[in-house]
Amino acid sequence: MADTVFEEARETKVFDSVDVLVCGGGSSGIFAALASAHHGADTFLIEKEGFLGGTATNYLVNPIPEMMGKGGFIQNFMDRMAEMGGYIKHEPSEVKYDFSLANTYDVEIFKFVALEMIDEAGVKLLLHTPAVKPVVENDIIRGVIVENKSGRQAILAKRVIDCTGDGDVAARAGVPYEKGREKDDLMPSVSLLFHLHNDKDLEDLPATPFGGIFLISPLLKKTARKEKIKYKTPYDVAFMVPMPVSPGKLLVNLAHVKNIDGTKSEDLTRAHIISRRQIMEATDLLRHHPYFSSAYVASTGTSIYVRETRRIIGEYIITEEDAVKGAHFDDAITSCRYMIDVHPIDSSETGRYEKHPPFDIPYRSLIPLKINNLLIAGRCVSSDRVAQSALRIGGTCMSTGEAAGTAAALSIQKGVKPREMDGTLVQKALETHGVNIRPEKGTVPEECMF
Ligand SMILES: Cc1cc2nc3c(=O)[nH]c(=O)nc-3n(C[C@H](O)[C@H](O)[C@H](O)COP(=O)(O)OP(=O)(O)OC[C@H]3O[C@@H](n4cnc5c(N)ncnc54)[C@H](O)[C@@H]3O)c2cc1C
Repeated sequence: MADTVFEEARETKVFDSVDVLVCGGGSSGIFAALASAHHGADTFLIEKEGFLGGTATNYLVNPIPEMMGKGGFIQNFMDRMAEMGGYIKHEPSEVKYDFSLANTYDVEIFKFVALEMIDEAGVKLLLHTPAVKPVVENDIIRGVIVENKSGRQAILAKRVIDCTGDGDVAARAGVPYEKGREKDDLMPSVSLLFHLHNDKDLEDLPATPFGGIFLISPLLKKTARKEKIKYKTPYDVAFMVPMPVSPGKLLVNLAHVKNIDGTKSEDLTRAHIISRRQIMEATDLLRHHPYFSSAYVASTGTSIYVRETRRIIGEYIITEEDAVKGAHFDDAITSCRYMIDVHPIDSSETGRYEKHPPFDIPYRSLIPLKINNLLIAGRCVSSDRVAQSALRIGGTCMSTGEAAGTAAALSIQKGVKPREMDGTLVQKALETHGVNIRPEKGTVPEECMF
């Protein structure tokens, strides 16, 4: 078999030419597009799935800590979800645990509200549209090639924001990045989340309370012993999250697969096969318990849930030391108080569920090296593995999106490259729009509560 094939050069039709193009409509991308449009930029959002939300919807992740007390578009979003019964509002100061029922939401209402807000903001949108190739000339990204049902087309833009989670656009544009553990490039396990439907009283849930959620591994082990069934749990701290907004639904985080590279389709395929087996095996076992006798798998994530892939290298790399000490920066665009959550890859590492003072995310960590008009937001922002294990939490990713969208629009207005822009201007623009850069200075407790 030949190693390569030759693809003919071709002319590609330009579908649109805009100010700001946001690639990926997940946690960071939704807020990047809303902020960019709010600041007057002609904004285009492309998303490879048929709905918005990314990890928050297609991976079923719940709850989302670090949304409360943030202000800005995140607050508007939570208010809209609450109006529709998709989120129960709580006073941040009254919430005992960040990772708890108080931060859960209904996935379908999340999808609906995201689409409504994007549409109302006048953001141009194409769903089912993956970005396949950046168009780069002399360290400038002119736009991206997309490939969808209409064929292969280009969308050009003055600024591009990579919100793909994996940094697909930045990496393909030649921006340097790091991936995985230094010694062998390995990354933490990946997961496939699922909803278990079980119409029983939550008061009687036989799982073990752990902070604001419920561990399920002890029950699985006990049931297997009692029923004399051979069973090994794939995740020692497998847990369940009942969702008060969606009665009868329990979110289960149990399927875990090691040695997967989330940027390789063959690995993701293998992860789907293995995790579906794990889900069915665990559900069959649970049904031996009277509480779960009529439980069934109501839905699974459409994507494998990847904790970490590329970390794009930017003007500033947020480090473990920054996270542990709670570093402050003049150009902070948000802060992160979520715990350091390193999932050990093997026995040479220990799991760290470590609290720290809130640390700032500086504007410079959203600015990749090399390409002058590209910004990044979400879990791939410039950071080391330990800092990433905290800042990858959903609410922090949303805030990096809001900041990147604001910065992209401002940099066009001011006629400067994002790299040359003073980060304090971005900070001020966010504050003017009601964003609390450091919510822990207000109503949110300083310490992450897990
Ligand atoms: C197992 C696991 C558990 C977690 N648990 C929690 C939790 O309980 N709570 C929490 O808040 N966070 C949790 N996280 C972390 C958090 O959900 C994510 O890190 C965060 O939401 C990532 O946001 P993002 O915007 O970077 O990416 P995403 O939200 O994943 O968005 C990326 C979007 O880009 C789209 N996309 C990708 N590539 C392309 C392309 N080439 N072209 C166009 N579109 C593209 C995707 O379809 C997606 O919509 C967890 C992560 C994992 C893996």
